[in-house]
Amino acid sequence: MTTLKQIDLTCPICQSRFTSHAVLSTNSFGGKRTDFHERAAGAQPLPYLIHICARCGYAGGERDFSDDADVSPVLREHVWDELAPKLPEVGGAIPGSAKYEFAAKVAAWQGAEPRRIADLYLRAAWCCVDEGDVEAERFFRRHAAWQFEAALSSYDGAEREERAVLTYLVGELWRRVGDAALASEWFDRVESEVMDPAAQRWVLDAAWQQRSCPRDWFE
Ligand SMILES: [Zn+2]
Repeated sequence: MTTLKQIDLTCPICQSRFTSHAVLSTNSFGGKRTDFHERAAGAQPLPYLIHICARCGYAGGERDFSDDADVSPVLREHVWDELAPKLPEVGGAIPGSAKYEFAAKVAAWQGAEPRRIADLYLRAAWCCVDEGDVEAERFFRRHAAWQFEAALSSYDGAEREERAVLTYLVGELWRRVGDAALASEWFDRVESEVMDPAAQRWVLDAAWQQRSCPRDWFE
């Protein structure tokens, strides 16, 4: 079960003060999908890990609303020009997927690493699963895959120990988008990224499983 608490935030872009809901505690008793999407019992915690200012569209984690927030004049301009005008389309009760999409854009304008932006798009896709929006889910999965690919294409874009898992994940994202050929290419690459064959046996098994006889859930 997910328990929420109320927090008071001040937007570092427009100085609006507002109340948001944050996660006090949660669990993952509902199992895990093969793209690592964990399910909690009852309400899902994901939408409450990101906060958004309903006046300008600035979005991020709790830290992004603290004094540590990285707010440059360029970021401010992007938020007003590109996020604020989209708020009316999103509607009054801003869904989790939109919060993560806006947070991903903010992160990109802050010059964040592809690895971090990829995580935000992946979580946007996970929210779409709960929101029942298949088209948007695929859109965000593509963006997540591209960002993970960008992270993997540079030497230090991802931790050495997580390269095999991320390579598998890119394959799984393309599989869930419906591109089986591209998915297979990525599943085939997993073996070359494995560092510790004993500890990472499960990643190889998962890649083989998803290429030959895909499942949507881990056991
Ligand atoms: Zn604001």
